[in-house]
Amino acid sequence: MKALVYHGNGKKQWETMADPKILRDTDAIIRVDSSTICGTDLHILEGGVPWIAPGRILGHEGTGTVLEVGRGTSSLAVGDRVLCKCVASCGKCRYCRSGQFGQCVDEEGGWMLGGKADGVQAEYARIAHADNSLVKVPQDMSDEQVIYLSDIMVTGFEVGVLRANVQPGETVVVVGAGPVGLSTMAVARLYSPATIIAVELSPARRDVARSFADIVVSPEEALAAVHSATDGLGADVAIEAVGRAKTFEHCCELVRVGGRVANIGLHSHPATLHLETLWLKEITITTGIPNHRTAHILLKAIKSGVLDPTKLTSHRYASLHDMMKAYEAFEHPAETNAMKILLGSGACCGNG
Ligand code: ZN
Ligand code: ZN
Repeated sequence: MKALVYHGNGKKQWETMADPKILRDTDAIIRVDSSTICGTDLHILEGGVPWIAPGRILGHEGTGTVLEVGRGTSSLAVGDRVLCKCVASCGKCRYCRSGQFGQCVDEEGGWMLGGKADGVQAEYARIAHADNSLVKVPQDMSDEQVIYLSDIMVTGFEVGVLRANVQPGETVVVVGAGPVGLSTMAVARLYSPATIIAVELSPARRDVARSFADIVVSPEEALAAVHSATDGLGADVAIEAVGRAKTFEHCCELVRVGGRVANIGLHSHPATLHLETLWLKEITITTGIPNHRTAHILLKAIKSGVLDPTKLTSHRYASLHDMMKAYEAFEHPAETNAMKILLGSGACCGNG
């Protein structure tokens, strides 16, 4: 099969690899029907996730069709259309028992796909703990409608909106209007906040953010915009969706006394916690990765039309074999305005 392989030092190649095989009874093999690229893949390529070794097939967001199941699987059948979760879970360990599936301590648990194990930027993939790691896709839903539930939309919901406990009538500021930031704004809307404020450096991304947020500003304008929306108090909730020290520190500045800061971004460098100002602010800071407990809820919201993830797609390539072209577009968003890139499923190739 062909797959996108990480070769270290920023290098990658779409090349021939061995077809995946069932290794454990709880595995399944899928044909990948659609795949996409995530900011996390770029962090890996930059060397920002040093424990990921060269030779790894990248990709943790995708949909597929089950081709083969191990004897230990019980909920899947050959031919099922499935969504891949970005985290795998054994269902038995201390963390799985408390619903923290993303922290599963099994050797094939936690963030596996395109990280500890070969991922889904490939024609075929082995999925560990398949019963827990795959979500069946209703026949009347397209791959594009569900694929962003592999990671970004569930991450925005679980790590951003739910951890920050967004409430009706609140002011929510999201710092970063890339794919994860926009997903977070879309799912925050489900809780009816009064105002969603998007803070974004790139003018092109600010344009896209206007269809997700009520107020869209540059980082320099953010403090004034937040104060004017909140009678000078600050945001009830500030969500970090970039993964840089500056954006995390900015969230701590924009949040009101007693407010909540939820960090979503993957950080490769330390950030400063300004306790000299925060010690009296009574704020709550949360971090985490998704546990992937909510894909089925968001699936229903999408099916009913309350949530439309397809707004995130900026580029479509009909074939997975266009992976290198897709990376080229995704790595240069300033020139291409890339947001999410859908590959496969015969996705219309208007931008291909
Ligand atoms: Zn991702
Ligand atoms: Zn576990």
